Amino acid sequence: MTREEMIETYRQWVFRMSAYQMALSIIEIDRSTVAPPAGASYRDERSAYLAGEAYSIMMDPKMLEIVNILKEDEQVDPVVRRGCQLYAIRLGNSLSFPKEKFVAQSMLFNQAYDAWLKAKQNNDYSIFEPYLKKIIESRREEYSCRNSDLPLYDQMLQDYEPGMTTEKYDAFFSAVTDRLVPLIHKVTEAEQIDNSFLHQEYPIEGQKKFMEHLLSYLHFDPSWGYQNETEHPFTSWTCQNDCRTTTKYIHDDVSSAILSTIHEAGHAWYQHNIDPAFDGMILSDGVSCGMHESQSRLLENHLGRSVSFWKANYPVLQEIFPSQLKDVTLDQFVAAINVAEPSLVRTEADELTYPLHIAIRYEIEKGLFNGTISTEHLDETWNAMYEKYLGVKAEQASMGILQDVHWSSGSFGYFPTYALGSAYAAQFVHTMEQQIPVHTLLEENRFDEIEAWLKENIHRHGCYLQPQDILKQATGEGADVHYYLDYLCDKYTKLYDLRGE
Ligand SMILES: [Zn+2]
Repeated sequence: MTREEMIETYRQWVFRMSAYQMALSIIEIDRSTVAPPAGASYRDERSAYLAGEAYSIMMDPKMLEIVNILKEDEQVDPVVRRGCQLYAIRLGNSLSFPKEKFVAQSMLFNQAYDAWLKAKQNNDYSIFEPYLKKIIESRREEYSCRNSDLPLYDQMLQDYEPGMTTEKYDAFFSAVTDRLVPLIHKVTEAEQIDNSFLHQEYPIEGQKKFMEHLLSYLHFDPSWGYQNETEHPFTSWTCQNDCRTTTKYIHDDVSSAILSTIHEAGHAWYQHNIDPAFDGMILSDGVSCGMHESQSRLLENHLGRSVSFWKANYPVLQEIFPSQLKDVTLDQFVAAINVAEPSLVRTEADELTYPLHIAIRYEIEKGLFNGTISTEHLDETWNAMYEKYLGVKAEQASMGILQDVHWSSGSFGYFPTYALGSAYAAQFVHTMEQQIPVHTLLEENRFDEIEAWLKENIHRHGCYLQPQDILKQATGEGADVHYYLDYLCDKYTKLYDLRGE
């Protein structure tokens, strides 16, 4: 095959995969939002068939040969070459694991999910424990098939965040716990901030009206984005100009839908701003889980919880909910949405205590794979770590070790990216504030100018650059956790008036 023929074969292969991918994404979005439940089995069978077809197209050993040749060929367009590089990794990893083992593993994940659900409902870790043990064995087997010199858990970490290793995460989390554990302790001892007014009755109708305003403030344009409702908010997409987000309304918590809307808009903006030339290719995605999460948390925490953001938006919220908020000042409102309080459930944690939830999961995952922690009595290990880091203890396993779904599908190495993303966000904001007047722009309803900075420095690259290169190009240096820790220490010292202590 000539070079040109190989490129053409590659392009057709990518196009076919993107067609299946688009169909599967839409089916998945539909299933999670509006699809009537009685049609589930019909849909599930057909979408499983489509997923199988897509998998067969992708897992073509001939294509592995072609991408391996093209990725090394200097005469080939750099965008094609980078795509081939990424496909070579993905295909190489997947093809090393025999298909029958892959099928058996998928079955195990399905059974483990059911067991996890039952265990959670019954508050009984022992129902899930044997499955967790089998999943770890299955992952061990899978990763040992790969042609890699890295330790097993490091390989898993790299699947979610290229370039990250146990050594780097160890340094990251020890910096996080060293600075934040004592700070959280001080915050707990300090005079507490009143946030009770956030938990009055806020009719959903009014919340939806505010969300319309908020989406327009965020320039979340209906020509390329659409918001729906789900139990667990998420963002999905088919291409640059078709991004879907969801939110969840809670009648006695006005901040929940607002902050999840801002968070998901951060993910959607990232996808929307990726170079349109990458559409349909492996490059048309955020480069890593940590980078994606950095964009949602940047919007949610650094912008969406700031005074300047609410200078522009609080009057609208007050107008919609006059009886609930007329006596609450702007500063009281912003303080309330920033309250920190150690708690048991990760997904409901505040900005300050959140990374400790992740540090605990990271230590457990690492221990499970290096053999220092066993699945037996893992609920007790979990509880002991929560007491150590956050001073709280789960009375029920559903609020403790069984709260997250991730491990039932074998997702190990994913959790750490949530904390890493927060740290990337702080570092980006530090640079952005030196280059554009972020807070003036927020106050003056000029959010699009902030988005333009994010697009230019982060979003447009998609997967073309590695996370570390994006960080270096945007901020002038590699990842540095101190920006994140300084930001949190500064913010919470002021908020809880801890100076002089
Ligand atoms: Zn997110």
